Amino acid sequence: MKKIALFPGSFDPITKGHESIILRALPLFDKIIIAIGVNEQKKSFFSLENRKKWIRQVFERYDQIEVITYEGLTVDLCKQLDVRYILRGLRTSADFEFERSIGQMNKKMLSDLETVFLLTTPEYTALNSNIVREIIRHGGDVSDFIPNGFDINEDLNPKP
Ligand code: ADP
Repeated sequence: MKKIALFPGSFDPITKGHESIILRALPLFDKIIIAIGVNEQKKSFFSLENRKKWIRQVFERYDQIEVITYEGLTVDLCKQLDVRYILRGLRTSADFEFERSIGQMNKKMLSDLETVFLLTTPEYTALNSNIVREIIRHGGDVSDFIPNGFDINEDLNPKP
């Protein structure tokens, strides 16, 4: 049976931190599905279409990487796609506490699901999408923090 991992997140926008986790996890799985979660209650900064397009552009050379969007519970998506592994990145102890409860609750809801954690590489520990958005809001340069291969400036009307 093929080993498929789901990497869920908001990717608002994708950062070098996300990219690094995905590329490092690639040898562990036959396929990685990057799943952009859509939350009606939470307004995103960048449009869903652009977030999806940018991730596709970053990984266009990789046949084993797929990008989808979803609403609802991640465990329901895993059931639907017959996925047994969730991939997550760990930056700090705060990430660990947050991820532990989600991972344990997911396991309770779907017992054959395993969450696989990769520790972030030290240079990306402080990096998150929120900081990238904050820099953009104030007109700063984010090129060191986002992957190559797409143009973040093409989203001319990011929501405040
Ligand atoms: P963020 O927390 O930056 O808003 P997401 O909600 O899109 O990102 O998170 C998706 C996954 O990516 C989570 O497992 C998160 O821990 C991981 N992740 C985000 N940024 C980094 C980073 N700099 N290094 C490692 N993992 C990261």
